Amino acid sequence: MPALALQSLWSVTAPPGPVCSPLRSAERAQVAVIGGGYTGLSAALHLAQAGRDVAVLESRELGAGASGLNGGQVIAGLKHDPDELEALFGARAGAALVALVSAAPAMVFELIERLGIACEVRRSGWIQPASDEAALAAQAARAAQWRQRGAPVELLTRQQVARLLGSQRYCGGLIDRRGGSLQPLAYVRGLAHALLRLGGRLYTGTPARALARDGDGYRIETPRGSLSAPRVIVATNAYTSGLTERLRRSVVAVPSFQVATAPLSAAQREGILPEGQPASDTCRLLRYFRLDASNRLVMGTRGSYTAAPTPHTARHHYRAVREIYPQLAGVGFDYHWGGFVAITPDHLPHLHELLPGVLAGLGYNGRGVAMATVMGRLLARWTLGEAPTELGFPVTPVQPLALHAFSRLGVRIAVQYLRLADTWTRART
Ligand SMILES: Cc1cc2nc3c(=O)[nH]c(=O)nc-3n(C[C@H](O)[C@H](O)[C@H](O)COP(=O)(O)OP(=O)(O)OC[C@H]3O[C@@H](n4cnc5c(N)ncnc54)[C@H](O)[C@@H]3O)c2cc1C
Repeated sequence: MPALALQSLWSVTAPPGPVCSPLRSAERAQVAVIGGGYTGLSAALHLAQAGRDVAVLESRELGAGASGLNGGQVIAGLKHDPDELEALFGARAGAALVALVSAAPAMVFELIERLGIACEVRRSGWIQPASDEAALAAQAARAAQWRQRGAPVELLTRQQVARLLGSQRYCGGLIDRRGGSLQPLAYVRGLAHALLRLGGRLYTGTPARALARDGDGYRIETPRGSLSAPRVIVATNAYTSGLTERLRRSVVAVPSFQVATAPLSAAQREGILPEGQPASDTCRLLRYFRLDASNRLVMGTRGSYTAAPTPHTARHHYRAVREIYPQLAGVGFDYHWGGFVAITPDHLPHLHELLPGVLAGLGYNGRGVAMATVMGRLLARWTLGEAPTELGFPVTPVQPLALHAFSRLGVRIAVQYLRLADTWTRART
């Protein structure tokens, strides 16, 4: 089988980012941010807006992590339903958390509008098609819980989903009108431009190699320079390295890949996602899909365990396209790319204080477009002196996974198992 052309669609269609260079001297800042994705840039932006002198260190390019590679689906809420969150955290803290995650897409859309970021943003709602009747029953409860809290979430019949997707594959679903989509790398770059306009500093090609106490603050060593700051924010998510080893072992980095078709002709496009919503289904190995601005169908699903899609993993994506949209059999695929999603054992994001004055936020479980932006703002608020108890998000100790070293193998086995389980379910429905 021929090798795949590996390139992200978003890298070809995003407007240029700011020109940045590596850190080459010993510098100081009021706040140092490690990681140039949504979490780090949102934190830095909110700090710069509050007048703080902030510098971001990114080991590669801005958005080289998941933020520049993802599906661009802006989704409200977490993997847990609102009642579960309230049961987990208690009525008051749970309700605050539910309100925060419910408003996450609105925060993203407002930020984009306020900063004038050109990122193909669409506030169209988000669809979760149900793969089987059991999933539909769970969605009925989910929609009811959100509606009780005033959120615009509605259950859809088989016919309604068929019309909104242009696919007969699903037995119903839900539409969440809080969500939408954007061009993920364009959003990263827009945040970066906005940060620079506010006087923030950005250093790319600058991996933080060591973090050590330095007087009242910290000194971060990089290959050609250093950055000293009293406060540090670690925003490295699935790409967390041995720099913060316990944090690295608190998440499992799971690969997720996407493919993009050639632009669909008017005839091929007919009936497919007519209102432009993105969709993520309820298969155990979920498939997420959408159209981009030039009518390419973008299809994503979890990979097994390689750093980049292979001809073998891409076959699963081609099959998903054919299964959901049989009318697209024969369509060509122009782009293949992948990145890592940070999964946590409890499927919740986490906010930590690693050391006095060193904060971290991560673990979005595939829902970080909205949530990482919100997390960045929480990290900024805490750094600016707000009490952690007032943030509306639980602060937890870091809990490294005991068998983290085996997680790659575990992911591989789990992916094969879930794929098989989905195949059985499909055969029965
Ligand atoms: C293929 C894919 C599809 C996805 N689809 C969706 C979706 O449709 N909707 C959704 O809500 N979420 C989605 N996600 C998840 C979402 O993209 C992430 O949750 C989010 O981007 C995390 O942002 P972040 O800034 O925390 O991390 P990242 O964007 O990963 O940024 C971390 C950065 O830290 C840098 N870094 C690491 N170590 C160091 C160091 N020592 N020094 C300096 N820099 C360092 C990395 O280079 C990286 O750029 C998807 C993820 C993937 C991979």
